[in-house]
Amino acid sequence: MTIAQTTAHTDFSEQAPEGVPVVGHWIDGAVVAPAGGHTAPVFNPATGQVTASVALADDDVIAAALASAAAGQRVWGGYSIAKRQAVLFAFRELLSARRGELAAIISAEHGKVLSDAAGEIARGLEVVELACGFPALVQGGYSENASTGIDVYTLKQPLGVTAIISPFNFPAMVPLWFFPVAIAAGNSVILKPSEKDPSAALWMARLWQEAGLPDGVFTVLQGDKQAVDGLLESPVVQSVSFVGSTPIAQNIYEAAAKTSKRVQALGGAKNHMMVLPDADLDLVADQAVNAGYGAAGERCMAVSVVIAVGGVADTLQAKIADRIGRLRVGNGRDVAEPDLGPLISAAHRDKVASYVDIAEADGADIVVDGRGFTVDGHEDGFFFGPTLIDNIPTTSRAYTEEIFGPVLSIVRVDTFDEGVDLINSGVFGNGTAIFTNDGGAARRFQSEIQVGMIGINVPIPVPVAYHSFGGWKNSLFGDAKAYGRHGFDFFTREKAITTRWIDPATRDDNTHGGINL
Ligand code: NAD
Repeated sequence: MTIAQTTAHTDFSEQAPEGVPVVGHWIDGAVVAPAGGHTAPVFNPATGQVTASVALADDDVIAAALASAAAGQRVWGGYSIAKRQAVLFAFRELLSARRGELAAIISAEHGKVLSDAAGEIARGLEVVELACGFPALVQGGYSENASTGIDVYTLKQPLGVTAIISPFNFPAMVPLWFFPVAIAAGNSVILKPSEKDPSAALWMARLWQEAGLPDGVFTVLQGDKQAVDGLLESPVVQSVSFVGSTPIAQNIYEAAAKTSKRVQALGGAKNHMMVLPDADLDLVADQAVNAGYGAAGERCMAVSVVIAVGGVADTLQAKIADRIGRLRVGNGRDVAEPDLGPLISAAHRDKVASYVDIAEADGADIVVDGRGFTVDGHEDGFFFGPTLIDNIPTTSRAYTEEIFGPVLSIVRVDTFDEGVDLINSGVFGNGTAIFTNDGGAARRFQSEIQVGMIGINVPIPVPVAYHSFGGWKNSLFGDAKAYGRHGFDFFTREKAITTRWIDPATRDDNTHGGINL
């Protein structure tokens, strides 16, 4: 096959130019976009305009990506630890120095405000920094004289070609949870980003090249289900790291297991924040608003339900509603930065609105209604106003399902135990938080709650890079979390070696094998 090489899509302006640019794949150290191939539109969610089109990989492109990644890994796997480390440090320096460029790209295609985009890069950088110290994390162990004259040791070797399939909501951070660790451990990576905001991946690919990573070690395969299926079905791919919605995560987990691949598939969430009567309600209201409406609620760790225990609900409702009145919604790239931007697409905005309709039909109180919200000068943007719902029935689909928008619901309960039972009854188990000044209550909460990541007076408890990120239940299929020690274990295969060497002094000929002992 022939794949045309093109220049990178670097015009991230808000006006769709004549004949919008194509965001291509990154294969063998170059942008490629076969002429006449399938594409999908990429929008600026703040304006509703199409700013680019993204190439969707067909079987030929997938085959080229796989061949390049396999060849790249053979080269990279032979690099010494010191040489690999030098490339990682160079990548870290470049990413840190040029993070503003990446933040602008993210904001243009995702819609989040620039400070949020900068925040996701900062969290991703933490993982690059962890990966720079990889030699200590991929060390094997050694046991001398496990039996008489026998030593046992372990090696941690790369898997080979690894695949990452990422969601739209963190186009830089989620891939950065995985690829620094995978690459540090000696693997090559094929990243299949979300087709909704594909340019951040391409930008990071160029950065790797500048950092000195050999071609083929980092590949970007743009596309949809066809690209994902191509990766899942290929015997070349040794592992799959997926992040996205729960139904797709479960499908990926099952499909990867069928072809005997290692798999970690992180799914959706419905995160509760439980508020005890002794909590500081001004602090709680500030944190609920940040965690519920930041990034327009399109965070897997966003708080979507406040459980008000023992009579705090009325005060809390009033405090949250008051703060919502002061939130500014607008184009994330405006210099006078708003607090939140638009949703990712018109279809997603309509889906979020449909959940508010469901809550209303089920008898909930819509305290602040974001349906039909528009921003002056951006009437075609995909905006949805911050919404507050109270007295939501816990049988309502608007309570049980993930909404993934700026919608915060309040559930009223009488006791601590009722709150814990409610959280534990859900199908998701990504994150949760408790707000209290009672250490004993917080301790019971951390022990009894069936959720993977817990905040105590911290609303979005995303672990730092040297711990690991992952939920329970339908929020993570597989047993390996992202980054930290879990990450290094996931991206390496261990070999145990048992050795016996005969002591030359015991040889019959008494020559000591020519060694003067
Ligand atoms: P999504 O499931 O629609 O898409 C995720 C990825 O899967 C994308 O790359 C997409 O192209 C691909 N994909 C979509 N449909 C597919 C199919 N039928 N077969 C194969 N691949 C397919 O998710 P999204 O809308 O991009 O992201 C939002 C979701 O991701 C939310 O549910 C959110 O909670 C979740 N998320 C979870 C975490 C976490 O850590 N648990 C982190 C971020 C996002």
